[in-house]
Amino acid sequence: MAGEDTFQTGESPVMVVGAGPTGLLLAIELLRRGVAVRLIDRLPKPVEWSQAIFIKQRTIEILASLGLAERFIAEGQWVRRVTFHSEGRQLAAYEFKNIDSPFQNMLSISESDTIHLLTERFIELGGRVEYATEFVGLAQDADGVDVTVRSTDEGVTTRRAAWVVGTDGYHSAVREAIGDDFDGRNYPELWGVFDTRLTEWPRARDTVHAQLDTPLVLPFPLGADRWRIYFRTDVAEPGVPEPVMARLRALEPDVGLADPQPPQYFHSHSKLARTFQIGRVLLAGDAAHASNPIQGHGMNAGIQDAHNLGWKLAAVVNGRGTEALLASYDAERRAVDGEIVHAGDEAYAWITDATGEGLAELYTFLSTSEGRAVAAMAETEIGLCYPQSPMVCEGMSEGTAVGARLGDAAGLLGPEGATSLHQLLAHPGPTVLLLGADAAPETVREMAAAIAPVLDGFDDIAFLTVTRGAPAIASGTLEDSEGLLHKRLGVDAPTLVVIRPDGFVSLCCAPGELERLATHLGRMYRAGTGQPG
Ligand SMILES: Cc1cc2nc3c(=O)[nH]c(=O)nc-3n(C[C@H](O)[C@H](O)[C@H](O)COP(=O)(O)OP(=O)(O)OC[C@H]3O[C@@H](n4cnc5c(N)ncnc54)[C@H](O)[C@@H]3O)c2cc1C
Repeated sequence: MAGEDTFQTGESPVMVVGAGPTGLLLAIELLRRGVAVRLIDRLPKPVEWSQAIFIKQRTIEILASLGLAERFIAEGQWVRRVTFHSEGRQLAAYEFKNIDSPFQNMLSISESDTIHLLTERFIELGGRVEYATEFVGLAQDADGVDVTVRSTDEGVTTRRAAWVVGTDGYHSAVREAIGDDFDGRNYPELWGVFDTRLTEWPRARDTVHAQLDTPLVLPFPLGADRWRIYFRTDVAEPGVPEPVMARLRALEPDVGLADPQPPQYFHSHSKLARTFQIGRVLLAGDAAHASNPIQGHGMNAGIQDAHNLGWKLAAVVNGRGTEALLASYDAERRAVDGEIVHAGDEAYAWITDATGEGLAELYTFLSTSEGRAVAAMAETEIGLCYPQSPMVCEGMSEGTAVGARLGDAAGLLGPEGATSLHQLLAHPGPTVLLLGADAAPETVREMAAAIAPVLDGFDDIAFLTVTRGAPAIASGTLEDSEGLLHKRLGVDAPTLVVIRPDGFVSLCCAPGELERLATHLGRMYRAGTGQPG
């Protein structure tokens, strides 16, 4: 799979079709690893109307690793609490408490703002979105893909790319072109949504006030004093339907709408592509999966697909990644996206159960502190992991499971000052940590000296030694001043940990297991080929 030398001179090795949140995140991930990318979208300019609003804690962590968290937080509205009401009475609630992330709450921000902020970053990195350029077909062979596009400026042309990623949404033409199946169901129910300001609505802006009785009405806070109101209806009316107003009045009798947009109507779906990769063509985001929007996971899942795929595809394009590394994208993300699709179906079945038993079960579930914690945790997406992936190895860590995303740890002191684990992991390549635990500094130095040659072929790997109780004086060493990193990894003896560029632990073993380390890295990267990512 030698993509690097097979695309024609002057062409970008990767063509990404669709500049929605998924395509943009992927393009950023590729570009920041030095991979030229051609990002096309059939629209003449970015969309102004948007669907998604909730950015979950895990996705904010990803944005933070790209230096974008502050920009999103400045535009968005934190959501701390989700409440459920019937006939004006609050029946259940959960909130985000003690979430194991630097970001405790969800962020509400219009998807069009998300697209704007990601586009801005892509352009800062030197990228350009080719608007008014529509994908119409492809033909792939062993070395590359001929992609036919139709653009306003050039008409119909064929371009060659080494790899193509379809991030072109639910009706993906790329998915059609490779003949992939998209199995699942279409929900018959009609939904409406509009943005508005609310007057005489003294309720907390950091709270969702859901009313799940028929007709269901969900007011979600947006930034800039606006609310986005989702509702179920049987008829697509041009104005806001009276039953929606009646539901809002059940919560606040004098509520009014100021500057409401006309409602948009939509149907929802629950589908999963049979595979996320056929040859040199991959799928991500809504092109690969569609989940019921009731839980607001779709865009987050697409961004996380792109985050999983970006470093792998970059490594392969740069001639360093193995075929197995790229194949693990489908193995890892299809499993997780399948779980999300399934969970969306279950949640929807609960709330639409005509007997009312589903809702009663939901409120009973949320009446216990355990139920509330489970609901909040599922919302955050920080627990999604890849335990069955062929790219992670069984580990011995009792703290963080191998295959899971590694949470943050503060208090790491180096010669250059204090930092946190997530800050350290933000660089484009993998990180190898040698945790010294209570071993004598000299012993740790000897272990590090034995490990270093194994990593020699991989320029972009950050190798760090982390001691507990001994000050870090040399570059590449850190002191775990509060022991938080050792504790997080459940480590009490010297331990070697490999953390992938997407922040997931892929190996945890004893420092002397050098062959195991070499085999593990060799599964991902071609040994001795220079920088991996
Ligand atoms: C009402 C509603 C509420 C939602 N709320 C949430 C939420 O709160 N949180 C959440 O995570 N998700 C939510 N979702 C889901 C979310 O909107 C989608 O999952 C997300 O937009 C998918 O992003 P994407 O980039 O994969 O695809 P899209 O956003 O669909 O982007 C695809 C892009 O591809 C372009 N394109 C299409 N065809 C072609 C072609 N042939 N050639 C070139 N370009 C093409 C399109 O113009 C578009 O720009 C919601 C969905 C709905 C319907």
